[in-house]
Amino acid sequence: MTNDQKMPVLFIGHGSPENAFESNIFSQTWAKLADTLPVPKAILSISAHWTASEHWNRGTTAVTAMTEPRTIHDFYGFPEFYDAYTYEAPGSPELAARVMEIVKSVTVEEDSEWGLDHGTWCVLKNMYPDADIPVIQLSLDESLSPEEHFEIGKELAALRSEGVLILGSGNVVHNLSALSPETHPWAASFDKFVKRSLTETDTDALLRYEKHPDFELALPTDEHFLPLLYVVGAAENDEPHFFNELMFAGSISMRCVAYWDHELKL
Ligand code: ZN
Repeated sequence: MTNDQKMPVLFIGHGSPENAFESNIFSQTWAKLADTLPVPKAILSISAHWTASEHWNRGTTAVTAMTEPRTIHDFYGFPEFYDAYTYEAPGSPELAARVMEIVKSVTVEEDSEWGLDHGTWCVLKNMYPDADIPVIQLSLDESLSPEEHFEIGKELAALRSEGVLILGSGNVVHNLSALSPETHPWAASFDKFVKRSLTETDTDALLRYEKHPDFELALPTDEHFLPLLYVVGAAENDEPHFFNELMFAGSISMRCVAYWDHELKL
């Protein structure tokens, strides 16, 4: 397919770094998804793993603007070859400049230090293994309110008709200290709440996610949820298409959603 049509917006539940290297139901579906969608001109990733770093503190939103983003191995306890892997997609200073131009609700600063963290490359390694599409990342400023994150998503929507794939990468339920062979009832309940909010376009409910009775167990910290707010903000009037609707290790929702005005067959 060509890229002269409006691009979808994706939220991918990325789960463990193992999904980068293992062929499983999650990684296989990501690959199939890429085969189904128009080929993007560039990708803007909002990953759960870029909140604050030594360079960017709370109160700052940053966009990567280097031509050759490094591969960041921000995990521990995995085989050594994970750390040796590099996803060598080019950056796009042009797209970074465009993001700084269209996002007006917060100040976006240019970053030359970050790169591609595993929230981004674990997914893209499966979707676009040739790493030939430019990729930039936008950071998450955790001091913003849910409404402010959502607003940035709305501003980013303009990129969809410019051939840019907006990718939010996180997990809508993410509690690493409650891993279990059985799905916890609170995990299933919060995941269901998210699906219902998206299906019914109940954005008010979604933005009040912290009020949900299972919020604290489902999301002890909410950085894995926040990318969803950007995706929903950029969704405009498109319908959500759900896939990978599975719970991993009892407390990680692998739920993905694509907003696209086409049928999605995976
Ligand atoms: Zn993660």
